[in-house]
Amino acid sequence: MAEKRGCGFDSLVRDCYRSGGYVFAPSPATLQDRHAITRIARLASNENPDPPSPRAIEMAVAALSQANRYPDEHVTGLVRALREYHGPYNFVVGVGMDGVIETILRTLVAAGDRVVVSTPTFSFYRLAAIGQGAEVREVLRRKDFSVDITRFLKEAQAAKVAFLCSPNNPTGTVTSCSEVEEILGAMEGVLFLDNAYVEFCYEDYRPLMKKYDNLIIGRTMSKAFSLAGLRVGYAFVPDWIVPCYSRAATPFSLNSVSAAAAIGALQDPAHVARARDRVFGLRKMVTERCRFPVTPSGANFVLVDVSPRTGREVSEELATKGVLVRSCESFPGLGDQYIRVSIGEEWEMELFISEINRL
Ligand SMILES: *Cc1c(COP(=O)(O)O)cnc(C)c1O
Repeated sequence: MAEKRGCGFDSLVRDCYRSGGYVFAPSPATLQDRHAITRIARLASNENPDPPSPRAIEMAVAALSQANRYPDEHVTGLVRALREYHGPYNFVVGVGMDGVIETILRTLVAAGDRVVVSTPTFSFYRLAAIGQGAEVREVLRRKDFSVDITRFLKEAQAAKVAFLCSPNNPTGTVTSCSEVEEILGAMEGVLFLDNAYVEFCYEDYRPLMKKYDNLIIGRTMSKAFSLAGLRVGYAFVPDWIVPCYSRAATPFSLNSVSAAAAIGALQDPAHVARARDRVFGLRKMVTERCRFPVTPSGANFVLVDVSPRTGREVSEELATKGVLVRSCESFPGLGDQYIRVSIGEEWEMELFISEINRL
């Protein structure tokens, strides 16, 4: 029998997984343990502070009683609900948009293929792409975080897949439909447009699906729809992708309870409208009253420049006051002077404002 060698099997692990990985927001549990605070403003993960729609809960509970059966492999009910909500588009679904991103990359990208990312942005594009052995090129945004289209296209023209996030995480920056079209028209590969926060801005990219066969629009039920814990994501896709996506996907990955909850959530658009109205109001309030500069945002969070302090210092100090925000120093290309603050409930934003303005 092989002797226990501690880390002796390290050499078996692929290079890309020996260090690094996804950086998670601090959890309320660690805060409660460390500082004995009970009422915590949870502003680190861009969730909807409202619980799921009652309709979503009702449908999830009903689905539980049939959980002895495998889910419908075509996720017919959810796809139908998506068509009722958005119109006659083609959809694929996954375990969160993260799951969709991973399956899309598995479908399209082979070792050595180029994947382009517009940084600073969501870290998972890069992590998922290196998992496929892709060669990842990062194209820096301008100082105001807008996309430098010329530089982006220079790298993206020869790419298999390019990722663009709008509204962008963690900056909140919105890239207009016409800029997206400029990119799409010049690309040979696929543009993955991440619309995780699109419900909180005024741009609607869906009509582009009718004009371009190389566009995928990623969506999530984790943010506006209050289902982060159930992990449901989906994407608008060109029709050629649907059968290959199914072949690449892990069988039955989206569980039947989550799929049922998503159907219920889509049947309650008033729930999303409430979240949207609250975000519009409180985002304006925070932008006006925060004594540090706030980047214009089309999302349910804002990026705050806390220089000359660092994001880490400020987020640690806010945590001792019961306010959890995200330090942004783990976002490549951003610098260490930023925090990202979700738009939560009114009391949470009042607490954030009074604590940050006191620093
Ligand atoms: C939250 C988030 C996602 C992932 O959403 P899930 O559906 O929860 O996996 C994708 N992209 C961006 C930019 C996000 O912020």
